Amino acid sequence: ATPTSIMVGTGRGAQLGVLVKNGTALQTVEGIQTIIFDKTGTLTHGTPKLTDCELMPEAGVDADTLLAAVAAAESQSEHPLALAMVDAAKEKGLTLPTVDAFTAHTGRGLEAQVLGETLFVGNRLLMEEHAVTGLETEEAQRTINALAEEARTVLFVASGGALRALLGVADTLREEAPAVVQELTQRGVQVVMLTGDAEATAKAVARRAVITELRARVLPEDKAKVVKEFQAQGKKVAMVGDGVNDAPALAQADCGIAMGSGIDVAVESGDVVLVRSSLQSVLTALKLSHAVMQNIR
Ligand code: ADP
Ligand code: MG
Repeated sequence: ATPTSIMVGTGRGAQLGVLVKNGTALQTVEGIQTIIFDKTGTLTHGTPKLTDCELMPEAGVDADTLLAAVAAAESQSEHPLALAMVDAAKEKGLTLPTVDAFTAHTGRGLEAQVLGETLFVGNRLLMEEHAVTGLETEEAQRTINALAEEARTVLFVASGGALRALLGVADTLREEAPAVVQELTQRGVQVVMLTGDAEATAKAVARRAVITELRARVLPEDKAKVVKEFQAQGKKVAMVGDGVNDAPALAQADCGIAMGSGIDVAVESGDVVLVRSSLQSVLTALKLSHAVMQNIR
């Protein structure tokens, strides 16, 4: 690669909202065979909204009291999902109780001491790890399936060792996602979705994004392992992500592509940064790389 063509390519990229941190990355992009997309904040906007609050028959509290306690706990969390509950409580004008203790469980959810009770909010794994009862009732199953079918993230709320409520959180797919995925597939690039979310929700989102390959329920520490897995098959892999959880995977990939709207650590771990946070920019990067390499050959 001539330094001049890389310089020109890098400059052109900057104009188009594709920030290339090093010339090598610009050359690597063209040869990428597999692109792995994180779900939340990458394929979706990452602005979650609470859409459902289904109390279990033995909840013992009304929906507002429960939401106030959950929002109080979530207000201590740095997870992007937390905003959905905090905003919902704010919109309803609820007064949040005091949180006496808080623990974040990475890739799972949270544990908090609220109104003298231990409250758990998170995914199924968190519930299973704390032996929460009531997960298998017909009503719980029905609600979980219905929420997942609508591509909602299902959050479990437990206290006193039992399931109290199920929450549905919706995060809209980026409009351009299906078209970008389709074009990548047409270009012969394998597209994979990677997420910590449940299988059923992940499937529903993947279907909307026309992605056929997905890895769900992947713990944050295992995201980089998935990248390695594809590399072990001899693939040149790009990872597109936005979160703290994605940083090791972005670093492991042959090319790490960070959403500009992403958290600092992710942006720092990327070789390429999509300033406009549009998935369309992934195609721009590919075309740019192709043009640069054409100039060289
Ligand atoms: P993702 O890859 O989807 O961004 P994470 O690995 O960060 O997800 O988290 C995995 C799952 O853990 C989330 O989908 C959610 O179910 C649960 N979770 C994590 N943090 C929280 C929280 N603060 N409140 C509720 N659930 C949480
Ligand atoms: Mg994310």
